[in-house]
Amino acid sequence: MKTYKIAVIKGDGIGPEIVNAAIGVMDAAGEKFGMKFDYTDVLAGGCAIDAEGVPLPQKTVDICKDSDAVLLGAMGGPKWDNLPGDQRPEAGLLGIRKALGLYANLRPAMLFDELRDASPLKSEIIGDGLDVLVVRELTGDVYFGAKHREGDDAVWDEMKYTRPEIERIARTAFEAARKRSGKVTSVDKANVLEVSRFWRSIVHKVAEEYPDVELNDLYVDNAAMQLVINPQQFDTILTGNLFGDILSDEASMITGSIGMLPSASLGEGTLGMYEPIHGSAPDIAGTDKANPLATILSTAMLMRYSLGEEEAANAVEAAVQQVLKDGWRTADIASPGKTVIGCVEMGEKTAAALKA
Ligand code: NAD
Repeated sequence: MKTYKIAVIKGDGIGPEIVNAAIGVMDAAGEKFGMKFDYTDVLAGGCAIDAEGVPLPQKTVDICKDSDAVLLGAMGGPKWDNLPGDQRPEAGLLGIRKALGLYANLRPAMLFDELRDASPLKSEIIGDGLDVLVVRELTGDVYFGAKHREGDDAVWDEMKYTRPEIERIARTAFEAARKRSGKVTSVDKANVLEVSRFWRSIVHKVAEEYPDVELNDLYVDNAAMQLVINPQQFDTILTGNLFGDILSDEASMITGSIGMLPSASLGEGTLGMYEPIHGSAPDIAGTDKANPLATILSTAMLMRYSLGEEEAANAVEAAVQQVLKDGWRTADIASPGKTVIGCVEMGEKTAAALKA
């Protein structure tokens, strides 16, 4: 039986509840597809500050590096809000991404048909569903370029990308598109920015390695508009750090439900970190009201991208769809006529649907 080492950062707030539910579903997938998961709980974020005085203990980094994948709940909460920036829980999140060399953020914005009422888009725009994957570069761009100030009169940030940075993120997007419907839209601002012209030329060069994947380019202003008027045209969107920051939020919000959206952060090898896009929801922590489905869907990404277990990943996604089809809802996605259940039960129902 294949055994995979999974580092688990449950984190703060609803983190432990949603991760426990997700682990139940992973174990069900393991049983069905002949895999064993060896979980190691590690601390990061607020709980690490409380236990060890730092948001990211070295032991956590070491165990994560030695694992096949990292599953994360969420970090942060009001308890730690008054600490200085480098000692806050968020420093744990940025720190672990950096320590693991994770440079690609994958955020699928998928609308389950059963939840189409949650989308702010009109039904005719949603058509037969939304399924867009945003691949955002995480370590370069204007966020990490040099910053300058000339007294009180001028200030500027340098927007910079290197060839290897663009090549590797482009490959991530083409590989991901291959596992989807085989179409990449590269988003830039090549009509104005030199960085974007460089970006575009390198993406086209990398595309030659993927003749089976269709590539087109779009300016970022047009992409922002197209996402709300014709999202159906997109499969995989490849973009830099700044444009990706904005477009990934826009893409996820068109599905309307924060408790449903997973994400993956990937690096050079197969090690990746998988987490829901939402935070630690301190307002509902400990009440069994959290929706675990974003975390459960993150485990499907974990199986797909870090373990290469495509069949199991598809089964997890199908189980989520089945539970929604059967009318089960957590409070955040409830609609008239559906039965509201808690986090624990949602996890159990998904695991049962997977095994059925
Ligand atoms: P949040 O995403 O935690 O919550 C926003 C709203 O959505 C809340 O009303 C919450 O109850 C609801 N919500 C979120 N996830 C839900 C779920 N699974 N099921 C049902 N409802 C859900 O955002 P926030 O309140 O701005 O942040 C709370 C804390 O989380 C902050 O400390 C923030 O820094 C942290 N945060 C962490 C991450 C991360 O760990 N990756 C991401 C975002 C925010």
